[in-house]
Amino acid sequence: MSPASTFSTESSLAPFAMHVSQSRGRRYPEPDHPYRTAYARDRDRVIHSRAFRRLEAKTQVFTTRYSDHFRNRLTHTLEVAQIARTVAGALALNPDLAEALALVHDIGHPPFGHAGEHMLDDLLRPYGARFDHNLHALHIVEQFEQRYLAFRGLNLTFEVREGIIKHSRDYSATEYPELAEYLLDQRPPLESQLIDLVDEIAYNTADIDDGLEAGLLTIDQILAGNPLFAGFYRKLDAAHPHARPQLKFNEALKRVLDFLATDLIETTRQNIASSGVNSVEDIRHQPALAAVPAVSPGLNPSSSVVVARMAGFGREANIAIHQSKVFLFTALYNHPSVVEDRDRGVSALADLFRHYMSHPESLPPFYFEEATRSRDEVIRARVVTDYIAGMTDHFLLRTHRDLLGA
Ligand code: MG
Repeated sequence: MSPASTFSTESSLAPFAMHVSQSRGRRYPEPDHPYRTAYARDRDRVIHSRAFRRLEAKTQVFTTRYSDHFRNRLTHTLEVAQIARTVAGALALNPDLAEALALVHDIGHPPFGHAGEHMLDDLLRPYGARFDHNLHALHIVEQFEQRYLAFRGLNLTFEVREGIIKHSRDYSATEYPELAEYLLDQRPPLESQLIDLVDEIAYNTADIDDGLEAGLLTIDQILAGNPLFAGFYRKLDAAHPHARPQLKFNEALKRVLDFLATDLIETTRQNIASSGVNSVEDIRHQPALAAVPAVSPGLNPSSSVVVARMAGFGREANIAIHQSKVFLFTALYNHPSVVEDRDRGVSALADLFRHYMSHPESLPPFYFEEATRSRDEVIRARVVTDYIAGMTDHFLLRTHRDLLGA
């Protein structure tokens, strides 16, 4: 009996789930573990990585000046993992793979969220290079994490590395020849297709929660800006006129989350049934459904390249998410005090980049060596970017103060 046959989850999966027995395996072959599937081991490797621990001190929306109990990128990641596991379970997909992909989905984010990502990208462009958090995440798990004697990186299975690249967008092989091994002309397994959608469920509910708690949003504003939430809240308010508004708020937000997760499950189930797919290979070769316009152009760069996949929301949920994003973008992400924090962080990031480019000797020894190995400025810019991208928000601001006295 092979060790894989003792795993209870494998036999209960749908035929179109990613079965670990069909994995394309690891870059460096390793013997099977006696009681963990390869995907469960990948999940554990991600949790034990340094980059994962650093998510705790990286911004989701709020810096810690608001409160210690707001989401940071680590607690956001745990919420995505919890929802992903539930949705995968309901669809009889592989929960270990979905969980591993959810836990790793934000690991490539530099300090200060998407604003930090855009600034690093802008700083790299004059050198003919780009910064992208998915590619950086792949770099982290393939190169930076050094925990094993036999290889660099975490030696994750093919499907987890593929999911890091494909969970939120498609990359073309002409533009990214280095990614050719990841079957760029094929869809990823459903476990991977779910992650970006689950991410949207998580932040479109959590950011409203934290925004209210921070005093940057009011319930009236949320009622006006988020019709899905308003529908649930008004019903609860009518049924419980004397209950504490905060509890009605919590209950309504929970119903929003449940509505979106249920819609994702049901719509994906219908798409599976109507397309007749019966295996992961069918999923992989499913032509892109009609390309749909980005749900929220300009709000989230990854959503501007949406190609409809088998996993998805129905029309009503898509509209609700669009409305929620527009509301959060205008009322919260662009709130003057959030912008002020973000701008301070991002300009410190840019200062540090320029400082390290002209003073590589102030980099730690490993990075100094890499940065000055040749006189090539492009290599130096890449190394400086790698170093900065790995920093936490606090560490970046402290380093900025120490080096530049600001
Ligand atoms: Mg995320």
